[in-house]
Amino acid sequence: MVRIGFGYDVHRLVEGRELILGGVEIPYAKGLAGHSDADVLVHAIMDALLGAAGAGDIGRHFPDTDPRYKGISSIILLKRVREIIDGRGYIVGNIDAVIVAQAPKLAGYMGLMEGNIARSLNTDMENINIKATTTEGLGFTGIGEGIASYATSIIFKNSGKS
Ligand code: MG
Repeated sequence: MVRIGFGYDVHRLVEGRELILGGVEIPYAKGLAGHSDADVLVHAIMDALLGAAGAGDIGRHFPDTDPRYKGISSIILLKRVREIIDGRGYIVGNIDAVIVAQAPKLAGYMGLMEGNIARSLNTDMENINIKATTTEGLGFTGIGEGIASYATSIIFKNSGKS
């Protein structure tokens, strides 16, 4: 059985925060505001995986009112999402995601992000594809107010025979 999931997230860009995307610290004048490390890419991926498994969303599993998640690395939460997926008998097929940001340039970090995400999900790097785009200066991402991310995932019911 094959199931598809979709995730979307946005965080505001502010001064005085580190910019973490895909578990990679990226040098930039601003970072994303949020209760956790505000890794907008990983948040979108987690929602895509939870959605595919019919397991709700990250707000349900990791509420931003819970002090345990203050400043936490989203990569740790991604590993927990994998455990939730595992517990429901699914394995990750592949993930495709896009980061929507006017700046900084992200091309040099894609491999690191894909490696972090693949390791967290116990899957091969070829199953993880991260892209980035600008919006040609349009909208909240275009003027640098925030960064958005969209992700899709496919998961399979683990037959236990493989
Ligand atoms: Mg978020």
